[in-house]
Amino acid sequence: MADMVRTRIAPSPTGDPHVGTAYVALFNYAWARKNGGQFILRIEDTDRERSNPASERMIFEALHWLGLSWDEGPDVGGPFGPYRQSERSEIYREHAERLVATGSAYPCFCTKERLEALREEQRRAKVAHALGYDGHCRAVPPAEGQRRRAAGEPHVIRLAMPREGETVVSDLLRGELRFDNTLVDDQVLIKSDGYPTYHLANVVDDHLMGITHVIRAEEWISSLPKHAMLYRAFGWDLPVFCHLPLLRNTDKSKISKRKNPVSLNYYRRAGYLPEALLNFLALQGWAIAEDREEFTLDEFIATFELSKVTLGGPVFDLEKLTWMNGKYIRKLTVPQLLDRLRGDLLSDEYLLKVLTLAHERIERLEEFVEYASFFFVGELEYDAEARGKLVAKKCTPEQTALALERLLEESLDQLLEWEPARIEETMRAYCEATGWKTSDLFMPVRVAVTGKAATPPLFETMAVLGKEICRRRLRRAAETLRAMKAEGNPGAHGGEDEKP
Ligand code: GLU
Repeated sequence: MADMVRTRIAPSPTGDPHVGTAYVALFNYAWARKNGGQFILRIEDTDRERSNPASERMIFEALHWLGLSWDEGPDVGGPFGPYRQSERSEIYREHAERLVATGSAYPCFCTKERLEALREEQRRAKVAHALGYDGHCRAVPPAEGQRRRAAGEPHVIRLAMPREGETVVSDLLRGELRFDNTLVDDQVLIKSDGYPTYHLANVVDDHLMGITHVIRAEEWISSLPKHAMLYRAFGWDLPVFCHLPLLRNTDKSKISKRKNPVSLNYYRRAGYLPEALLNFLALQGWAIAEDREEFTLDEFIATFELSKVTLGGPVFDLEKLTWMNGKYIRKLTVPQLLDRLRGDLLSDEYLLKVLTLAHERIERLEEFVEYASFFFVGELEYDAEARGKLVAKKCTPEQTALALERLLEESLDQLLEWEPARIEETMRAYCEATGWKTSDLFMPVRVAVTGKAATPPLFETMAVLGKEICRRRLRRAAETLRAMKAEGNPGAHGGEDEKP
């Protein structure tokens, strides 16, 4: 296996499937394919509170949609499994013990109170760096440490970082990166509940799974000294590290959902073609030739050279992606285009869901098109009547806008199982927590997501529309409400001064 290229992506299933995951997957996939190697999918679900099976499922689906298939993974198995970190706890514990035995790691018994007091002290003393652990328990003699552990005293296992000198690690794109060891914390490797942290699990798995090239986003560079230390402490060779440039908003900040849609589900639901999205993502780090932007996945793989990834700081420009998508649509023949529509927006599966909701409400078949139109368009326009109904009872447009945004950001956005019962539960809990009467808030939500006041049952409707469309429309409705305020139109229900 010595020369075999093995790459991986290691997403954490903690939210909607992220466009950054597709970007990193694409470069890992291409490098493995280019070299006749293997591409592995590993699920890093060590954060037990935030990890969610629905999120994992969506990652699989989104990558399948893009056509980035993996050779080994939790669903397809492979020789180095299991590929889900929650099923590998024993392996991490055993590895941590090895480091304790050789003195590269040590048990730390510090209480939460002590750590908090330490942080407070550092803050007061304005220690510019090293806002981290002070190494207190490094002084505990190993035999005493063993005894206290055996007696069941709560503890974590920490990495003993060298206290002087530099850690030097090379990155394929950036050359030698140097880290001052005094600035690197004694990282927790095993938490007090016995579960590993990202750092330990990630390094142990990359080694045991034979990963030759760790290709990941730039944001992980700060973890490199810890990772390099771990490899050295275990006596393992380092893989090739290659940190890809971050995806950026047009203002150059790290891509974020306030400025760009980041969920892959959005791109799918909004009608982007997978090949257009892949081409666009490849452009973020790869220039195939001067003056050439369009290329297929096969062309990318054939020409790709990992060491020549461009670090120029490209931007994720949605307008450009849309323009490119149009070009890809025009490349399809009409029958192919029909196939694409039938694969998604006009699939039997989707039509059946919509028909189930329209069934009771139409008298002639052709009424279906008009009645159900909001299930098929991307953006809604709110006519005067809808705008009136968009304003919550006894509220101003501004107050309603705020309520819709907060419902989205503080509540619905976190919901991963997008099913009627869960949507209902979440929205009711939100009303309960904020003092809204459900009927007062649900009407504006209904109008926001459908453009109408009379619709099929709200939660079923939202479930069929999907989270992405609902999210987009709630934002759009909030914008519309704000514009109404600017026009001096208080809406149907009241004046500016009234409070909910
Ligand atoms: N679990 C990390 C993530 O969510 C993996 C980072 C890495 O590739 O090392 O992105």
